[in-house]
Amino acid sequence: MDFRELPPVKDQLKKCVRCGRCRTVCPVFAEIRNETVAPRGHVFMVQALRDDKVQPETPVYDRLSNCLLCETCSINCPSGIEIPELNKAARSFIYQQNPSAIKDVFLDRVWTNPTLMKLGGLFMWTANKTGLQKAARSLGLTKLLPGDLSEAEQIMQDVPRRSARSILPEVNKAKGEMKYRVGYFLGCGTDLFSPSVAEATVKVLTSWGCEVIIPRDMKCCGVPHAANGKLDSARNLAIQNLKVFNRLDVDYIVTDCASCSAAISEKSLHLLLNNQGYDEEIKKFCSKVCDLNKFLLEVLEIKPQGLKPANIKVTYHDPCHLAKAQDIRQQPRDILRMIPGLELVEMKDSDRCCGGSGTFSITHYPLSMKVLEKKMDSIASTGADVIATCCPSCTMQLKHGTNLYHYDAPVKHPVELLAAASTQTRD
Ligand code: SF4
Ligand code: SF4
Repeated sequence: MDFRELPPVKDQLKKCVRCGRCRTVCPVFAEIRNETVAPRGHVFMVQALRDDKVQPETPVYDRLSNCLLCETCSINCPSGIEIPELNKAARSFIYQQNPSAIKDVFLDRVWTNPTLMKLGGLFMWTANKTGLQKAARSLGLTKLLPGDLSEAEQIMQDVPRRSARSILPEVNKAKGEMKYRVGYFLGCGTDLFSPSVAEATVKVLTSWGCEVIIPRDMKCCGVPHAANGKLDSARNLAIQNLKVFNRLDVDYIVTDCASCSAAISEKSLHLLLNNQGYDEEIKKFCSKVCDLNKFLLEVLEIKPQGLKPANIKVTYHDPCHLAKAQDIRQQPRDILRMIPGLELVEMKDSDRCCGGSGTFSITHYPLSMKVLEKKMDSIASTGADVIATCCPSCTMQLKHGTNLYHYDAPVKHPVELLAAASTQTRD
């Protein structure tokens, strides 16, 4: 699709009134203090690209990629400009003229193939458990890795041995009388890096009367592809997922991952598949999509009766894709507050990006760590025993933060704490 015809480029660029409000809230601008990496600078850059005043070359891509796609700018923009969408459209346009074979193989061949992803996870687990990763680091071999990977490999330290797909069956029967059949949109991050979250999700859903289906032919939600200049790949993945889930006879489609739920929202799918003949498929699919926190509270109407006391102090980090992209802020907190004895302490700026942003911490490690430092300061000042969040990317980033700053607290999804508090009668 022509870059100039993409909805954000065609309809939104002209609305910028140059007020600069987006700049004042941008976590990247706060670190770099350079207009070219500020959201307003991105808007100018996309305009210049559209008008052929700058060429679609790699240095322009690199400038635009200094962005967490956190949406802080767009929710503060008085003109309602979706700056991250503009940015993704521009990156994709530039990438098409400057493709990278390594990126294509990794994102199109490996990341779209659950079996290869599982093998990749197993390789990382083996390297970590056998000390290979540590040895390679002390011998300086990790420095041979491209880009920021030589430093960023430290983020992938606690990769579990088994993915959620290896642990959980395709069909998970409801405990007792079945209320709903639920399709579980199991994201790659949860599958590979946080299988305990998937187990908790299935445990809680089945114990509250849901039959949970995990379709084996489901693919990645496409967030990493869209963020890395590959909008066409993200489109193909979205089309595949629409087909897979629309074929299923389910009442709801639920996900516990903030990024997946934003990617499979009606707004995102319409932007991605604009005028490509999928409106009916999107309508059918999105009428069933629900974030797990909302589903538990608003559909299943779960109650705190019978939950075991936890007696822990928890602080909650709002993932950008849940809080800013979908305004889901209260529900995860309500779930945490349901657990008897659990004290919820708010951190300062709980919705400030942690710097993880999917692959950003890997492609922009030093910048990502600067953003993380502020988040860890906020967390440390709460004195919490546990950090809660709803996104596998935030979870990995915050775990890395606890290692870097020697802050002894596990990072958990609210559903993991809920599952742990569930009594034996519901197990
Ligand atoms: S999405 Fe976030 S990081 Fe990117 S320009 Fe907007 S505020 Fe800055
Ligand atoms: S806040 Fe919106 S209108 Fe103001 S400069 Fe940024 S993009 Fe333009």
